[in-house]
Amino acid sequence: MPYELPPLPYRYDALAPTIDELTMRVHHDKHHGSYVENLNAALDGTEWADRPIEELLGDLDRLPEEKRAAVRDNGGGHANHTLFWEAMAADGGTGPDGALARAIEATFDSVTELKRRLSAAAVARFGCGWVWVIHDGNGLAITSTANQDSPLMHGHTPLLGVDVWEHAYYLKYQNRRADYIEAWWNVIDWARFAARYEEVPA
Ligand code: MN
Repeated sequence: MPYELPPLPYRYDALAPTIDELTMRVHHDKHHGSYVENLNAALDGTEWADRPIEELLGDLDRLPEEKRAAVRDNGGGHANHTLFWEAMAADGGTGPDGALARAIEATFDSVTELKRRLSAAAVARFGCGWVWVIHDGNGLAITSTANQDSPLMHGHTPLLGVDVWEHAYYLKYQNRRADYIEAWWNVIDWARFAARYEEVPA
């Protein structure tokens, strides 16, 4: 069974005006679509083609050397974007509750401080990449990865990720990455973020 492009869990225009419909169409159908196509092309006919992508990214060294770069880039792209679509919603609430709320308070003091630090990391990421809230095995942390590298490559569980490649925001925000990140908080699915936190293996 080859990897498949998952449909968006909402309409292409659901996140407007924060993220416009054309950006969502190109980003999901073309960019994410290409990662899936390229990943399938790289692994077609190999014993690796049926593995969960999280498993491959968690141990790239097990792959034949000539497959590693393709899986790192395109498998990472597939996993990262799948998480990204799920992290957003048209009406995802205004903030965390439950165990996630307590963890954010314990780690960052406040949601405001979490937002400030993630936004700062997003602006600081040079070039293409992602900024994440992860569970690193001990608790919450903010990290950043280049290109399509996944926190899974470092043994971390990604809980929330924001795509800071220009293709994620350029049509509407041009060079204003900070404005995109600030607006992006409006479309976070806080319940999904909380659920992912609660699913982290103890
Ligand atoms: Mn992207």
